[in-house]
Amino acid sequence: MTDQLPNILDLTFKELQQALVSMGEPSFRATQIHQWLFSHHASRFEDMTILSLSLRKKLSETFSILPLQLVERQECFEEDCDTPTEKFLLKLADGEMVESVLIASGERLTACVSSQVGCPLQCPFCATGAMGFRRNLSAGEITGQVYLLDAIGSSEQPGRKITNIVFMGMGEPLLNFDNVIEAIDTLSVKNYHFCLSQKRITISTVGVIPEIQRLGRSGMKTKLAVSLHAANQEKRESLMPIAARLYPLNELGKSLAEYTGLTGMPVTIVYMLLRGINDSLDDAKMLARFAKTFLCKINLIDYNSIINIKFKPVLSTTRDMFQQYLVNSGLHVTVRKSYGTAINAACGQLATNSSLNRNNL
Ligand code: SF4
Repeated sequence: MTDQLPNILDLTFKELQQALVSMGEPSFRATQIHQWLFSHHASRFEDMTILSLSLRKKLSETFSILPLQLVERQECFEEDCDTPTEKFLLKLADGEMVESVLIASGERLTACVSSQVGCPLQCPFCATGAMGFRRNLSAGEITGQVYLLDAIGSSEQPGRKITNIVFMGMGEPLLNFDNVIEAIDTLSVKNYHFCLSQKRITISTVGVIPEIQRLGRSGMKTKLAVSLHAANQEKRESLMPIAARLYPLNELGKSLAEYTGLTGMPVTIVYMLLRGINDSLDDAKMLARFAKTFLCKINLIDYNSIINIKFKPVLSTTRDMFQQYLVNSGLHVTVRKSYGTAINAACGQLATNSSLNRNNL
């Protein structure tokens, strides 16, 4: 890979503008080339017929165009759905791999995308965390997951389109803030072939406080989900040690109050119930106290078992008791169904280079 030309898809829009200016071209050429790359999905510079022959030649001598490659695809059917949940193993230009998931539910087709190769936060219940951190994805690698999944879906079923995107795949999206925001900007450009309202895109975070504040001030219309899993600092540290120490609960609560005040949008608090660990009535009381300090709804999810990791899913009777307490406290609560557990595609199960899911790859 050493003599490979730089992949133009990895450039931010600003970098693309700078590259064009350094070639002696006006910066508006960047807008045209961006559109050819991210709306028409040109795979060769020769196809960019709006550009002069000499510029096309210069570009092909300077850059390559290397989209993500599909390596493997698995599917599983859920009880209540005719369309399968599908997991895709995708290869990046440097040989690294990520996983993305397509989830069909009613009228919705949701792409769950990755933002990092691995993750530095190493939450002990998460297969991605067990991989360690390898690198951030570029904005082009993030949008590339969506385009590839969308193209596969619509080629097999004309008219099938991705309706929602969630950043709940591999990695902590707010630790790759600039690229995630750039990717969302590209995915929501109005005159591009793939154009999705930002309101249909959810960023899921463990609570990276400085970036929550940045997001609140950014004017983005995306939704925010925060994985809490415990509303007690000590317990949260035992479940997600790095994240909970870096972003303490009381400061997280304040930043979410500021975020909802700025944006007027509720935050979704994601709470994964783990049997005998965070599912008691006391845990529900602490969660209710925490959640009442800002505009939010609560999403209870079951733990998705991972080979070699010793947590257990909550008992359904305990989940009902937990949910009822929150509802009685005046909170809006939903219980989220997990999709793709049979193929290790559900929350916390994505990993590409770990023995945790080798049996499925
Ligand atoms: S749960 Fe999220 S933040 Fe924690 S290790 Fe997994 S990917 Fe990273």
